[in-house]
Amino acid sequence: MTSMAQVATPTGEHRSGRPLLELVSISKSFGDNEILKNVTLRVMPQEMVFLIGPSGSGKSTLLRCCNRLETPTSGDILFDNTNIFSPRVDINQIRTKIGMVFQSFNLYPHMTALQNVMLALRKVQGKSKAEAREIGITMLERVGLGERVDHYPSQLSGGQQQRVAIARTLALEPRVVLFDEPTSALDPELVGGVLNTMRELRQAGMTMVVVSHEMRFAQEAADRVVFMADGNIVEENTANELFDNPQHPRTRDFLARIS
Ligand code: ADP
Ligand code: MG
Repeated sequence: MTSMAQVATPTGEHRSGRPLLELVSISKSFGDNEILKNVTLRVMPQEMVFLIGPSGSGKSTLLRCCNRLETPTSGDILFDNTNIFSPRVDINQIRTKIGMVFQSFNLYPHMTALQNVMLALRKVQGKSKAEAREIGITMLERVGLGERVDHYPSQLSGGQQQRVAIARTLALEPRVVLFDEPTSALDPELVGGVLNTMRELRQAGMTMVVVSHEMRFAQEAADRVVFMADGNIVEENTANELFDNPQHPRTRDFLARIS
């Protein structure tokens, strides 16, 4: 077993155990445009890693590669020691085990909260209607929406819709969840509910990679903060160290702009 204290060390050399998700020398180009440049990042079990950096620095592309929404130009991504781009790996299996939550919740508007959560359980996992329903209700209760299972997305706030999207991801029993700016589309008063759900998920030991501008949340919850610029990891450290004592001028410049 790897303890939280061991996981929380920023530099890696004191950590024990194996990474759950490992990006090794990932590069990604779109045409002549190199978006990710030789990025290496290891995420330990139960670790919450925050990814920050200016718009266009490659954060979303990096997350999308981990879920096979993009294919790196070179490099490997290992999940639980298996190369996710191996032809033997089933993409549905990978997207189940490595869940993703997007800024836009992508719920089906003609389906209730519960039906949205049940869909992949039925279609991808082949669960019976009764079983999918039971799991769906449990997951919606877990994100605080037990009273809203039969509501349509249009009858829910943005924060509630995002929590439905999180419930939908969790229903598939992922081992890692990638969050791409999960609160950026929300009115300020709705952000807290989504962060609470993420906080509870962290307490339950979920491994998470989070792209977010919620620096206070990062300071409270992140084991490690990774600063990216121009497709490179410039600097990484604990939240307190990175925010209070940034080493690289680019990090300092970025933090000065957003504070
Ligand atoms: P971030 O999430 O940090 O804002 P992105 O990963 O979304 O950054 O984008 C990094 C760069 O890659 C941007 O300049 C963007 O225009 C470019 N990019 C992203 N996806 C594509 C694509 N499918 N085709 C071409 N360029 C892309
Ligand atoms: Mg992005």
